[in-house]
Amino acid sequence: MASDQSWKEKYLQELESADNREKQWKAERNTLERMLVRTSLASEGQTPELDRLLARIRKDLRKKRVDVDAWKELQDQIDRQVALLDERQSGNDRKPSFFSRKSREPDPQQQQAAPEFQSESSEQAEPVPGNDQDIEDNAQRLRIARRVGQLLGQMLAQVSLEPAAEARARSLQQSLLASNDWDELREGLNHVAELVIAAVTRSKREFEDFLKRLDERLELLREHFSAQSSAQSGRLHASEDLDREIREEIERVGQRLQESDNLLDLKQSVSRHLESIGQAVGRFRTQESDRERALSEQLEAMQEKVAAMEAHSEQMQEQVRKERLRAMTDLLTELPNREAWQERLSFEYNRWQRYSHPLTVGVLDIDLFKRINDCYGHKAGDRVLQLVAREFRERLRTTDFVARFGGEEFVVLFPETEPADARTVVDKLREHVGKLPFHFRGEPVTVTFSAGLACFVAGDTEESVFDRADRALYQAKDAGRDRVIISDRAIAQ
Ligand code: GH3
Ligand code: MG
Ligand code: MG
Repeated sequence: MASDQSWKEKYLQELESADNREKQWKAERNTLERMLVRTSLASEGQTPELDRLLARIRKDLRKKRVDVDAWKELQDQIDRQVALLDERQSGNDRKPSFFSRKSREPDPQQQQAAPEFQSESSEQAEPVPGNDQDIEDNAQRLRIARRVGQLLGQMLAQVSLEPAAEARARSLQQSLLASNDWDELREGLNHVAELVIAAVTRSKREFEDFLKRLDERLELLREHFSAQSSAQSGRLHASEDLDREIREEIERVGQRLQESDNLLDLKQSVSRHLESIGQAVGRFRTQESDRERALSEQLEAMQEKVAAMEAHSEQMQEQVRKERLRAMTDLLTELPNREAWQERLSFEYNRWQRYSHPLTVGVLDIDLFKRINDCYGHKAGDRVLQLVAREFRERLRTTDFVARFGGEEFVVLFPETEPADARTVVDKLREHVGKLPFHFRGEPVTVTFSAGLACFVAGDTEESVFDRADRALYQAKDAGRDRVIISDRAIAQ
């Protein structure tokens, strides 16, 4: 947005310099107009047609409207009249008397409509005696030529012309001030008219160029905001308003340019429109920063809330996880408990139903555990449960799942495992537990367990497989304990 400030300052500076230039142009124009009026008055009295053309110059100047094309034509007509006059004068074998006139009365129309020219015109329009015509003519035209030379000097001090035109004007001034050659002077007076036209049209063109450049920059500005509005959907509405306001202002500037030929009005109009655009941009920026501030506050508050919610959620999740773990874990042995078993059994059962991969269930029961309790105490029994459970956890494969089902009874799930392979695993485990060096009250104690295995077959449920495994366990107990028996399917069914 810093660039907005700089363009605004730049335009205001440009407007100020345009203002100064315009004042200068106005002063120049007044000088040139006055000079042209005096010159035309001084030239009157040759022919009615020439008088009519000169009166038209004054009329146009009074209207403050110079139609360049029409004036070129006017100049051609004047040239023709002067040429005719010259021919007539040379035919009469007379000295040129372009400036001689019968009457030096000022134009009554001029007196009425352009009072600012009146005193100067009156100064030039002294009555001339009619005697000794040639001498008077000479004196008269030299006086006028000197006066026009002086005025041209004043004009050159105020007007900035192209270098070539400046040089031409200087030499013209010298001629007017010093020359007694009538042809040179006459040509010089024509150049004065050209200079007036050049100065006026150049001023107007420069100002129009300035307005055109200004308009282009405003258009760029409008495009800039237009692009911004499309880039940020959240600001779309405000940006569209701003865009429309700027476009309308620019269109109004354009209309004024079309309609008006008054430079002062145009400048004021452009200045007003620029001010309006500046205000629109200012409003937009205020709204924008308000919106941004509100958004950023909202965002910050939301971030804080989200962070708090995340922390809370993590806390809750951790708590739930801990509680769930506690709820699913046997306190004594730290193995998964019966609930965890049930959950896992359902999961594996569903997988088995879907993929039909082998799935074996084992029920393991410590042999004659009651005796341990009875002989060495409940704590010794607990210790046996803990140590046997640790062996189960550490020696079974991580893909297998072992849980304490209750008392001194444990259950194992063997996914992707046929009963014969599960049997190998459990036998190894059984042999290992049987060799554990338990000592209670100084006596070595051997701990063994029995196991029954059963695998899922078509039509099985979670309970039916478990039942078969449990029966196989009792078969192992009946068979003398410390052994593993695989359920016969026929038995279960
Ligand atoms: P069998 O070989 O036929 O399984 O004989 P057993 O003695 O192991 O079986 P029984 O069911 O007769 O006895 C199980 C005993 O296990 C009874 C119970 O007091 C004991 N027991 C169950 N849970 C615990 C426990 O958490 N800690 C201790 N120390 N003993 C327990
Ligand atoms: Mg037992
Ligand atoms: Mg038991």
